Amino acid sequence: MTLARLHADIAARVEAIRAAHPDWLCRRGCDGCCRRLAEMPQLTPAEWALLHQGLNALPPAQLDSIRQALRSLAATPQRPLVCPLLDRTAGACRVYAYRPVACRTYGFYVERDLGLYCRDIEARVASGELAEVVWGNQDRVQRGLRDLGQARALTDWFESAFGQRSGTDGEPALMPADCRCVDERIPCGTREPVPRNLADAP
Ligand code: SF4
Ligand code: SF4
Repeated sequence: MTLARLHADIAARVEAIRAAHPDWLCRRGCDGCCRRLAEMPQLTPAEWALLHQGLNALPPAQLDSIRQALRSLAATPQRPLVCPLLDRTAGACRVYAYRPVACRTYGFYVERDLGLYCRDIEARVASGELAEVVWGNQDRVQRGLRDLGQARALTDWFESAFGQRSGTDGEPALMPADCRCVDERIPCGTREPVPRNLADAP
């Protein structure tokens, strides 16, 4: 599967969910997930190639802000991490059109055995409001990403391209640190049941 195909599939699922729920919580200015990363974003080579285009298109001042954010992370790499690509004032991604796959699926996709919502969406799920939602299938996305090659941390890619080391290389996850399921390696007895309506299952 190509990155373009993956993007198209994700966009279709997101659009379908939004069409059924025009008041969906994920929108510009809602940046909670970007401010609560458990680990540095991981990107496959194709995702980085796209993101690199976005970084190169930024005004120099914005690229400097990203460099500064990476330096700050290197100095104090405590978790949760605030994504260095976030414009904290605007509450918006500086490279939205070029963002990684994980950012495109977050809030709309779930893993069969984990669930991957943000806590705000989980609250709506718990209230029963979203019972009929057909969630995107994160397992399928992960399979698509594996076809795209070895993922590396954003910090590694950035260093290769721009020569700056942040020191916050992480493990392959992009989830808010307050998620109960944040560490996939630890069996969790408190996970929410995963919704039955999973697109393109299995
Ligand atoms: S996943 Fe949650 S925090 Fe992130 S944009 Fe959606 S509602 Fe906002
Ligand atoms: S790349 Fe953009 S959308 Fe993804 S976590 Fe960072 S700021 Fe948020």
